[in-house]
Amino acid sequence: MDDLRELYQEVILDHNQNPQNFGQIEPATHSGDGYNPLCGDKLSLTLQVQDDKVTDLRFRGSGCAISKASASIMTTVVKGKKVVEVEALFGAFHSLVTTGDTDDGDLGKLAVMAGVYKYPARVKCATLAWHTLKNCLSKKDEVAKTE
Ligand code: ZN
Repeated sequence: MDDLRELYQEVILDHNQNPQNFGQIEPATHSGDGYNPLCGDKLSLTLQVQDDKVTDLRFRGSGCAISKASASIMTTVVKGKKVVEVEALFGAFHSLVTTGDTDDGDLGKLAVMAGVYKYPARVKCATLAWHTLKNCLSKKDEVAKTE
């Protein structure tokens, strides 16, 4: 499992064990679920959006370390951001985990997921929370799938 060491960095393991913003917002302005059938990761997201800004968000779910850590890191990065900024981050994050490209300076803490691109099956785990978030923000009342 030595080759996985790069993927499972300490930050990822830490977020998996101590997820940030874990729980549910009641009442939420936006909510949605995500499911990654390839791995079995499940996610529920609740958001508080005011004046086009994500003022609070929480997640619940069960899944692998990557999916949980990615959701946890996402909540810490997205909290307090404008919806347009979140959309830009989604694009930067998606390119990070599919190409390993860390050139986008706004990635911040998200850069820790860079190793994911070497493991195509894990890309869907890493992006599940983001797909779910995108669905929430566009008020699509459907389960976000990574397919
Ligand atoms: Zn997974």
